[in-house]
Amino acid sequence: MTTLLINSIYRATEGEGIHIGIPQIFVRFQGCHIGCVNCDTKETWDFDPAFTKSLDEVVETVEVLSQDIIKRISITGGDPLHPSHIPSLIELVKELKARNYYVNIEAAGTRVVKEVFDMVDFISYDFKTPSTQVRTSKELLGKFLEEYSHKAQIKAVVSDKKDFEATYDAFHFVKASMKNDVPWCLTPCYEPGEEFPMNRFQHVIKLNESFGLPFRVIGQQHKWAFGPSERLV
Ligand code: SF4
Repeated sequence: MTTLLINSIYRATEGEGIHIGIPQIFVRFQGCHIGCVNCDTKETWDFDPAFTKSLDEVVETVEVLSQDIIKRISITGGDPLHPSHIPSLIELVKELKARNYYVNIEAAGTRVVKEVFDMVDFISYDFKTPSTQVRTSKELLGKFLEEYSHKAQIKAVVSDKKDFEATYDAFHFVKASMKNDVPWCLTPCYEPGEEFPMNRFQHVIKLNESFGLPFRVIGQQHKWAFGPSERLV
C-alpha cells in the first residue's frame, strides 16, 4: 500500500507567484531537511510517521474538497521532492493526472527530479537567496531551465539588496538556458512578528526598477488577507 507523509490538505486561494488569486487544493507534504532560516512553515520539517496517510485517503480528501469544481492542485511542503517522498509522490501525481487535475509542484530548487517534473503541469522552482542560508546551484538551475522553461516560474524570497543582487546574478548566469520567457517572481520577505513589510516591499520594487525591471515583484496576499501566521489559507 502506498503511504505518504502529509501535513495537511486544504482548499485555498493561491497567495503568491504568477498563479496568485486562483483557487486550488494544496497538498502539503510533511518533512524537509533543507533548513531555510526564514522558513515560515517550520512545523513541516519533521519526518514524523504520525503524519502518515494512505494514497486512497489523500485522493479521497482531494476529491471531497474539489467537488469537481476545483481541478487545480498545488503540491507543496515541507519538501515534497525529498528522496524519501519520491516513490509515493510519483504515485500521487499519476493518480491526480488520471483524474484530470492540473498539478503544480513547489520545488525547493535543490533537486531536479525528472520522473516528477515530466508528469506535472507546472513547476515553481525556488532560487534560494543568501538570507535563507541555503544555496541554490546556478548550474542546476540552468539545467532545470534547459528542460522545463516551458512550464516553470522561478521564485525568490528577497530580504535585502544582497538577496536581490544574488538573484540578478543567477538570472544572468542562466539567461541563455531559458528557451521561453520564464517569469522570475520576487517575494519580499517577512521577518518574524511583522504584520506587513511595507518598507521592504517598496525597496524591492525600487531595486527592480533600478536594475531595468527584469523581475515581477509579487507579495504573499494570503498573509495580508489573513495575517502572517494563519495556516491553511
Ligand atoms: S524548503 Fe520550504 S519547507 Fe523547507 S525549510 Fe525551505 S522554506 Fe521551509
